[in-house]
Amino acid sequence: MNNRYVYYFGGDKAEGRAEMRELLGGKGANLAEMTNLGIPVPPGFTISTEVCSLYYKNNRTYPEEVRRQVARNLDRLEEEMGKKLGDRNDPLLVSVRSGAAVSMPGMMDTVLNLGLNFSAVEGIANNTGNSRFAWDAYRRFIQMYGDVVMGVPYDDFEKALDEIKREKGVEADTELDADDLRRVVGSYTAVYEGIVGKAFPQDPIEQLWGAIDAVFGSWNNERALKYRRINKIGDLLGTAVNVQSMVYGNWSDASGTGVCFSRDPSTGENYFYGEYLMNAQGEDVVAGIRTPKPLSSLESANPGVYQQLLGVKERLEKHYRDMQDMEFTIQEGRLFLLQTRNGKRTGRAAVKVAVDLVKEGMIGREEAITRITAEQLDQLLHPMISPGMKKTLKPIARGLEASPGAAVGRVVFNADEAELWVTRGERVVLVRRETSPEDIGGMNVAEGILTSTGGMTSHAAVVARGMGKPCVAGCKTVVIDEIAKTFSVDEKVYREGDFITLDGSDGEVYAGSVELEKPSLGGELNELLSWADEIRHSAKRAGVEDGFMVRTNADLPQDAKLAIDFGAEGIGLTRTEHMFFEDAKLTSFRRMIIADSLQERMEALKPILKLQIEDFRGIFRVMDGKPVTIRLLDPPLHEFVPHSEAEVSELARDLGTDAEKLLKRVRGLQELNPMLGHRGCRLGITYPEVYDMQVEAIMLAAVAETRAGIRVRPEIMIPLIGSTAELEVLRANAQKVIDRVLGGADTKVDYLIGTMIEIPRAALTANLIAPHADFYSFGTNDLTQMVFGFSRDDVGTFVPEYIERKILPFDPFQTLDASGVGQLVEMGVRKGRGVKPALKAGICGEHGGDPSSIAFCYKANLNYVSCSPYRVPIARLAAAQAVLAAK
Ligand code: PEP
Ligand code: MG
Repeated sequence: MNNRYVYYFGGDKAEGRAEMRELLGGKGANLAEMTNLGIPVPPGFTISTEVCSLYYKNNRTYPEEVRRQVARNLDRLEEEMGKKLGDRNDPLLVSVRSGAAVSMPGMMDTVLNLGLNFSAVEGIANNTGNSRFAWDAYRRFIQMYGDVVMGVPYDDFEKALDEIKREKGVEADTELDADDLRRVVGSYTAVYEGIVGKAFPQDPIEQLWGAIDAVFGSWNNERALKYRRINKIGDLLGTAVNVQSMVYGNWSDASGTGVCFSRDPSTGENYFYGEYLMNAQGEDVVAGIRTPKPLSSLESANPGVYQQLLGVKERLEKHYRDMQDMEFTIQEGRLFLLQTRNGKRTGRAAVKVAVDLVKEGMIGREEAITRITAEQLDQLLHPMISPGMKKTLKPIARGLEASPGAAVGRVVFNADEAELWVTRGERVVLVRRETSPEDIGGMNVAEGILTSTGGMTSHAAVVARGMGKPCVAGCKTVVIDEIAKTFSVDEKVYREGDFITLDGSDGEVYAGSVELEKPSLGGELNELLSWADEIRHSAKRAGVEDGFMVRTNADLPQDAKLAIDFGAEGIGLTRTEHMFFEDAKLTSFRRMIIADSLQERMEALKPILKLQIEDFRGIFRVMDGKPVTIRLLDPPLHEFVPHSEAEVSELARDLGTDAEKLLKRVRGLQELNPMLGHRGCRLGITYPEVYDMQVEAIMLAAVAETRAGIRVRPEIMIPLIGSTAELEVLRANAQKVIDRVLGGADTKVDYLIGTMIEIPRAALTANLIAPHADFYSFGTNDLTQMVFGFSRDDVGTFVPEYIERKILPFDPFQTLDASGVGQLVEMGVRKGRGVKPALKAGICGEHGGDPSSIAFCYKANLNYVSCSPYRVPIARLAAAQAVLAAK
């Protein structure tokens, strides 16, 4: 039997199913599923994604069998509809649409009204008794086909249309009658012929194949490629092509079209949410040209259709067990569904819908957890304008609350400028009348998006929600002048580069840059994360008894507090050198670094000891019984010394020393590659008094807080170990100090002394190091640097190009390179536990907050991941997802 390339849907039965989305694309699979469910869907057929891949493999041609199957399915469609393409009396018209396995809204091509020609247009006119409608459909078809299939500039058609409107002295398209539109068709065919060099095709089969080629061709157009790159969509066969009989929302006043969601896609509230327009085609709703009406008004305008739509919504939501995004058309009072898919939603809606579906018994907790993505959660942790601040602000304009969160940036008026400004290090807000798929790159880099037309389902709104970008849409009082690069509200003019602030949660726009604050977790999110925590905590593995934990990297008490509020279960890394970033502390710290005798250094350490005791006490208090890993100093020295002569003189003045002498010392500290230089435990070996001071501060702080009734669990961590001897010496030094402090105190402190595994040699010899370490923490930033031989300081110069050219699949400093660096992590854990079966092991490199790296860490049997405070909720979710995925 020949391969099947084409799948029919119609007559209450379809050859496809929802599960076949890889082959039929999301749209095709769901059209098939809806047909099987008996939901009214205009019949048609889907040419599979496999054909797309064959089309490219065969130099943009099709196997004969594909043509045969299309012809056979077309016959079947004509038979079912009782109409024929191009027929003079009662022609069949079809739409030709793209649809990949992953939805890529608006990125690929669509052709509507296909099948019209000079005889079919008469057929439609006779058959409907509405020749205006027929000629309007024909002119729309020529424009769309010309633009999409043959690359005739859209504006050339618009100019021809404007010309006829001007001659007639009217402004709106709707004021043109059938004869005017017949003239428009005449001018359009002339425009088409002028550019293409051939007459507009009258043979519907030629039109059909032109459209199919165009849709398959659009799989690799620039914006689709960019969309897939931004959204990390790889490994798909291609798009499917759906050929479907047309239904018309612009047939009459009893016709209409709309988009609806089974729940609110912004908030997740369970109410039937949508927009529609009577006497309009779908593109009119999405393009934001006319402002649509809320679905609630359909209930009174046409209760029969509304009730039917409500029934369809309920069935589809129950069937798919998720919030649905549906497109419908009403033709002469009859309802048709043109699409359903799991709706794109904001992070807030994603969490609310998932938690509600669990409560409604539609899905289980585990499924709810797997449905939320890290990106969606990230949105919930997006900045907001504080309610207090809000009261003091006066908005300059108000639009629709299209995508939540607040954004501050400089105004730019087009997507290319947005990308340009952002590469210059600016934050921008993209201000457009309405966005289109070409704007995707600019939208991606903008902090937020403001549009002056369009509704909640306009391109800007849908795409912004998917991206988690704050967006205010349909802000009518904003009048944009793209040429002058200004917008005005009432009399006031705002220029390119001016700062504005948007609040996508209530649609308000403010002049200037408003201070934003990060939100805290809400009720539903807390509930969802508590389910995630249960899953993580029960995940026991070899050598790991207490589940898969989430800690934080925090250097200051206020960061630690924030992390606790976000659910951190300990500190995995305090970088003690970061405690010296404040001006007053920095001077003392620099005095210590530039000291060039033991005596000078001992003097310099005295004030630091006091500062450190206070720092550590603050952190212990906040962490109240949770483990706190404090890393002894690991300052890349060059980050802490001044460079220019003027700065050196200023420091000399502050320190009361001689500038000449200081300059000499600063020069002496310079290294060719400081990242591989005199840092980490190497400082501890050469200047033991520095680490001694820190250990003393940790233990004195621990004793003081224990006496104050706080449970303290310090974990002293020695960085950048490459050989066992380094750890042996430094552990012995630390032990001596600890014994001295505790010996003089009547207080017991539970402490550990461990090390970082961040030098490849440490991982390779982890069995030799383990006897001297109570725990391991993988420093995957340095490990990545040294495994790849990429300097952490300089990767920006070439890694982006590597990623662009696919020499690297991703930035290994963001996502752990499981096949290379990962081997060392696994080896470190295995060899360490081979000697000490219960050796505690975690990760504190930046990868600890990255979901796919977290999944790796789970499989590598780490006890915990540690990440920055704002990533903690994401890590809790990703850790639970890792546990579920490994089940
Ligand atoms: C690491 O190297 O992964 C680490 C956490 O330490 P730092 O980034 O401070 O070098
Ligand atoms: Mg490091």
